[in-house]
Amino acid sequence: MKAAVLEKVKKISIEEREIPKPKEDEVLVRIKSVGVCGSDIHYYNEGRIGSFVVEKPLVLGHECAGEVVEIGSKVKTLKVGDRIALEPGIPCRRCIYCKTGRYNLCPDVAFMATPPIDGAFTEYITHPEDFAFRLPDNVSFDEGALIEPLSVGIYSAERAIIRPEDTVLIFGAGPIGLVTLQAVKAYGAGQVFIVDINDFRLSKARELGADLVINSSLEKVEDYIKDGVDVVFEASGNSSVISQTTKFAKRGGKVVFIGLASEDYIGININEISSKELDLLGIFRYANVYKKAIDLLARGKVDLKTLITHRFPLEKTQEALEFADKNKDKCIKVIVNP
Ligand SMILES: [Zn+2]
Ligand SMILES: [Zn+2]
Repeated sequence: MKAAVLEKVKKISIEEREIPKPKEDEVLVRIKSVGVCGSDIHYYNEGRIGSFVVEKPLVLGHECAGEVVEIGSKVKTLKVGDRIALEPGIPCRRCIYCKTGRYNLCPDVAFMATPPIDGAFTEYITHPEDFAFRLPDNVSFDEGALIEPLSVGIYSAERAIIRPEDTVLIFGAGPIGLVTLQAVKAYGAGQVFIVDINDFRLSKARELGADLVINSSLEKVEDYIKDGVDVVFEASGNSSVISQTTKFAKRGGKVVFIGLASEDYIGININEISSKELDLLGIFRYANVYKKAIDLLARGKVDLKTLITHRFPLEKTQEALEFADKNKDKCIKVIVNP
């Protein structure tokens, strides 16, 4: 099989590799669709994200879907020919976090395309049965791949406990901001405002149901958000935005940090957090939401097709990463189809 391998910074080569053999509790999957994620671009450009460093050749890609072509001897719920989305983080299933359902916090999670675990820019992958989810006929492989980022949005909405008619402000209209927008709408939020500096991304936000879009390079967010909102979602990762988030939450409101910042320490108004009694929530990936994400999509409550702007074959994985990195004014999600 072919695999697109990150050899060193800014260098991906197509390699021939052995097709892996599924263990007894695994399925062998022919990968059909892989979304390019910001984290893939980080590893491609810098060879590291924080303490995760690429020390040997690595296959990137973790947002993926494909077809089951072989099953292990103990697999019961999937069969050859099933179309599936793969949840890319496999936890230990034994620690206290796993046992209490917060398996995204498992210290031993093996997450695709996080060194040293290979990812999905390849033709075949083996994957445990319990982290593979069948796709209904009306969901395409490309949409199946984007169940991964959609899960981040849904998990964020759940952690914020969105209630009917809650007002929401989202910073960042990239892929994660746009799935968070759709998730909070599906969970019953009222008015949703979204802020970015990119008009193309804001036009997508409007298409996907934002009540008001604000281009913060031209307009002041303060002019629109006078009384504060119930929940602020930070999905830009921009440090100056992060330090202002608390200002836009109303008394008793919440601020949810989804975007990873490039710096560890960022100034924030601590007195405002106390005097407004704000709840601050961190988000790390997701847990127990894949099935729900697929159901919401299959029932037409969210739209992932609108996010897909470009497609590349596996041989052009490097071009796909370069394109996604350099064309934020005209692309949202770039897909690689092995
Ligand atoms: Zn991702
Ligand atoms: Zn665990």
